[in-house]
Amino acid sequence: AKTMGKNNCQFYTPRLTARLLDRVQIEADLRVALQERSLEVFYQPQVDAISKKMVSVEALLRWRHPEKGLLSPASFIAVAEESGLITEIGSYVLNTACHDAARWAEAGFPLSVAVNLSPLQLLSADFYEQVVHALETSKLPAARLELEVTENIVMHHTPSTVNNLRALRALGIRIAIDDFGTGFSSLSYLKNFPVDVLKIDRHFVNELQHSKQDEAIVRAIMMIAKTMEYVVVAEGVETQEQANILTELGCDFLQGYFYGKPQPFAAYAFTA
Ligand code: C2E
Ligand code: CA
Ligand code: CA
Ligand code: CA
Repeated sequence: AKTMGKNNCQFYTPRLTARLLDRVQIEADLRVALQERSLEVFYQPQVDAISKKMVSVEALLRWRHPEKGLLSPASFIAVAEESGLITEIGSYVLNTACHDAARWAEAGFPLSVAVNLSPLQLLSADFYEQVVHALETSKLPAARLELEVTENIVMHHTPSTVNNLRALRALGIRIAIDDFGTGFSSLSYLKNFPVDVLKIDRHFVNELQHSKQDEAIVRAIMMIAKTMEYVVVAEGVETQEQANILTELGCDFLQGYFYGKPQPFAAYAFTA
């Protein structure tokens, strides 16, 4: 076992170095991407569970990489966060999403748009001003913007992040808890954190039709939501059966491949 250890060491060192170089390369490429506008915002529909009408979209970041093709955030968001680039990227997503949503409204389709926030973004001193600026320049009404935060953010919140979110909420912006129930936080934050929407993570939706456990979790979430007067969005809806169960359980909005994958702004025909 001792010699194995030594071998492992020799084996892993070059790989670790390669990974580090990889990260440095990704960071450098990301900076260029931000400047050259090869970061794009895609939109995924959210439908009303009863009418099945598309009422809103979630803004999801994509990177049109010159060699690697279209990249999902999973492959670069960690680097963006660790390097601090996420602040700039996040502000770009926010401005683009507000701008695009305002254009849909002009075309006669007043959709709401949900934007994902990273912890660093929320901590930046001018976060409140950034959001107000995005609304003002795009002329998107505050009531059509939703900000998605994870329980991770909630757990590490400071008095100033809560104050910022409260102030934004007072303008009419909605606050959603993303991936609800998957974080390591206790539910007690719901008592004083400003919340309007719970998003049920797709891991609870995946096997909903076969799993009594998942059904129980969704029921519990619905009960909390009803009492607290939150709206509930289920994500990762891939089948009619899942949609039926979620609607029966009282989910307000549905999102997932069953209704549409994330697509570029131009793919939504009503923008023409
Ligand atoms: P998320 O916020 O939980 O977003 C939902 C993810 O699930 C998206 O992945 C979406 O494409 C995917 N998805 C939607 N419907 C289905 C479905 O029916 N089945 C399956 N299997 N997947 C579905 P995506 O776009 O790759 O984004 C991954 C994560 O990256 C997001 O998870 C979010 O945490 C983060 N992210 C995306 N855009 C941004 C952004 O602008 N800023 C920040 N800070 N994070 C972002
Ligand atoms: Ca999200
Ligand atoms: Ca989510
Ligand atoms: Ca998720």
